[in-house]
Amino acid sequence: MWRRRGGTFAALAAFFTVAIMFFGIGGASALTAPATLADQSAPLPLGSTVQTGAVHTDVKGKTFAIATDTTFAPFEFRDGSGELVGIDMDLLRAIATDQGFEVDVKSLGFDAALQALQSNQVSGVIAGMSITDERKKVFDFSAPYFDSGVQMAVTKNNQDIKSYEDLKGKTVVAKRGSEGETFANSIKGEYGFTVKALADSATMYDDVKAGNSVAVFDDYPVLAYGVSQNNGLKIVTEKEQGSSYGFAVNKGQNQDLLAAFDSGLANLKANGEYQKILDKYLAKSEVEEQGGFFQLVKDSFPALMKGLWLTMVATVLSLAIALVLGVVFGFFKVAESRILRGIATTYVAIFRGTPLLVQAFFFYFGLPQMTGQPLSVLAAGVITLSLNAGAYMTEIVRGGIQSVDAGQLEASRSLGLGYVTSMRRVVVPQAVKIMTPSFINQFVITLKDTSLLAVIGFAELTYQGQQIYASNFRTGETLLIVAALYFIVITALTQLSNVVDRKFNK
Ligand code: GLN
Repeated sequence: MWRRRGGTFAALAAFFTVAIMFFGIGGASALTAPATLADQSAPLPLGSTVQTGAVHTDVKGKTFAIATDTTFAPFEFRDGSGELVGIDMDLLRAIATDQGFEVDVKSLGFDAALQALQSNQVSGVIAGMSITDERKKVFDFSAPYFDSGVQMAVTKNNQDIKSYEDLKGKTVVAKRGSEGETFANSIKGEYGFTVKALADSATMYDDVKAGNSVAVFDDYPVLAYGVSQNNGLKIVTEKEQGSSYGFAVNKGQNQDLLAAFDSGLANLKANGEYQKILDKYLAKSEVEEQGGFFQLVKDSFPALMKGLWLTMVATVLSLAIALVLGVVFGFFKVAESRILRGIATTYVAIFRGTPLLVQAFFFYFGLPQMTGQPLSVLAAGVITLSLNAGAYMTEIVRGGIQSVDAGQLEASRSLGLGYVTSMRRVVVPQAVKIMTPSFINQFVITLKDTSLLAVIGFAELTYQGQQIYASNFRTGETLLIVAALYFIVITALTQLSNVVDRKFNK
């Protein structure tokens, strides 16, 4: 049936090669320092006194990808213009300048940042990350740069919860993978409460304010800062003895970067810059005036447009690849060869039978851990979406072809046209007409599915919205704006597609 079966395979192979080259999968990683370099510089024992004035020449001119939390004010958060600022950010940048290296900061969320480090997607993490014994088994830490500890907060007007004893039978929230979560879990048996884990501080506070959980466990400087910014919470317990924050690299790796961080930190402490950075964020307790809804629309517009652009980029790239996959596997599905049908059926089964979110985690965190090759978030996102949408496209194409009456092909063949010509001139044009509405539907689904990539830190529209309400605490209004943008874009594009459909598929 397939005359040019070999050709199809070759085309598929060529396509994947191009895709791989395009996304730089398998390329040499610029993120991880070569082992030889790491081996040459002696790691600094934790807490040792570092010589000030030292500059580590082996990191000079290099760029390191560093992961951080999305929202952990005053350590990392977005200012009004969408810039990532905070104590961690200023310290990191000042140290990089001092030591002559560059940083590419990736705002992923706390748990995701640690995972990105472990899969070597980034060289280091700075995220108000506590230096704990457990973590020291897998990470190497810089000298501590800030003392912290866990505290509990409830809504401002909550009169019932004043201590851990009042938590009996209730649900509290803490950040996934954080010291706060570990602490809450360590006392939940004693006080009889349930611990729920969420990904970032802003969502945790919202959860408490929405009444889904009664209290939140988070680091005290962060809670205190949020309360001073009117986040609607109040602190009700004394702070628990906690660990200090440090900059982390994978154990035994990037020791040159770690040593440079330590030298830079020592230099900043010596020249007063470190204290200046702390004062800049901690002394600032005045609450910024918040404007009305339209002011919020205006302020958030640049960041949201950036997000919308990335949403469109990911959608278009993914759909283009998905279309190729759909056509190839769709034809496989109606092929006579059992092998081709088997391949297509397996592909569809896998990608339709597993959640998109699991696929995204797998391509961004899992695969790089297994292969040792980091993958950019755009590449991982597009691979996920295109493979997923490709599975649905396959079914659309198969259904389209099969819905054209078999007599059409027979009639065309009996008129003396070859199989390929008959398909191309008779069957496919009719099938396309039938498939178009389903294609438009898939396009809308894929566009909306890009929002799931926010969990791997892809800075699309939903992610930008999350970043905004993480720093202004105006969740409801921000989400309304985000939803309206999706709605407008999707409605406009469906209208457009329908017009095109009517014009060409008359
Ligand atoms: N200090 C806490 C920890 O390391 C929380 C860090 C964070 O939420 N960014 O677990």
